[in-house]
Amino acid sequence: MVIDLNKNVSRSEINTLLLYLKNEQVQHTYVERLNLIVVPKIKQDTELQLATFNHIIQHITPTTKSYPLASKERKASSLVNVDGVIIGGNNFVMMAGPCSVESEEQIYQTAAFLSKNGVQVIRGGAYKPRTSPYSFQGLGLKGLQILSEAAKTYNLKVVTEVMDVSLLDEVSAYSDMLQVGSRNMQNFHLLKALGNSSKPVLLKRGMYAKVNEWLLAAEYILSGGNEQVVMCERGIRSFDSESRNVMDIGVIPIIKELSHLPIIADPSHGSGLASRVTPLSLASAAAGADGLLIEVHPNPSTALSDKQQAIDFKQFEDLNTQLSDLLKAIGKPHQEPMLNVQTL
Ligand code: PEP
Ligand code: MN
Repeated sequence: MVIDLNKNVSRSEINTLLLYLKNEQVQHTYVERLNLIVVPKIKQDTELQLATFNHIIQHITPTTKSYPLASKERKASSLVNVDGVIIGGNNFVMMAGPCSVESEEQIYQTAAFLSKNGVQVIRGGAYKPRTSPYSFQGLGLKGLQILSEAAKTYNLKVVTEVMDVSLLDEVSAYSDMLQVGSRNMQNFHLLKALGNSSKPVLLKRGMYAKVNEWLLAAEYILSGGNEQVVMCERGIRSFDSESRNVMDIGVIPIIKELSHLPIIADPSHGSGLASRVTPLSLASAAAGADGLLIEVHPNPSTALSDKQQAIDFKQFEDLNTQLSDLLKAIGKPHQEPMLNVQTL
């Protein structure tokens, strides 16, 4: 269950309730930032007498899930605010950009293109999780600076990966949303650190992760006090080597059924091939995704990472047109280009 406390409850009143739970040997977690107590499970023979605490309790949500804070039993849906760009509800948010930040020219060209096409969030990795230590590892701090400056110029928000707790402050200083990569979905130290962060988190699904494990990863962040979490399906490993990953479109309605958290789709990593990005984008939107994360590059053949799955500007425009028609058909607002865009 989740016990939401009244506002302005004194610390000593909270302590009395926490002591009561302790004496009853009921496992519990007090989340100060959210002013609530999570009681994950209660022994069959324990009956809590919470009536005496009614004056400090605002609401009790009984939950049957192992992830009470991420569960739909807690609320129907939630909105995540990326510095003014709202993900969830009836919005459809487009996030796009290259796999990696490679140069000033590449990012400024991309940012100019994206802002003209109504994209609100630019992506790009500065610290890259590469399978081989000999592959391009990203520009690091310089990459973050380029991304953040270009985003400011074109009125875009930044989402970029934070690979390690030690990089959290640095990456936070240059971004509006922190991406947890597939390989880090169960990096519990990182998840705990993100629970303390004030930045929204884009939580990619681990390539081997079951839905329950993914939602428990989200629960780590929520139970740390950070409720701003967006799930991102990016394909899972399967037996078929025909595609890089198998895009699990079916997980979109599953997350909607089990959780209040918004979910977006990444058909670039989900398929690994540029030609499959548009059909899988449309399928994800039709399945109820709250947005897309797309890899787009001014010249994909020269990309320093994930070149096979990057679409070019022309392909992006085609995708956007088809997507607009689809979004209209399913009653989601059509995106207008951002206002107040400066031109260089
Ligand atoms: C990325 O977004 O470039 C990336 C590395 O994604 P993933 O963690 O899903 O592989
Ligand atoms: Mn990539």
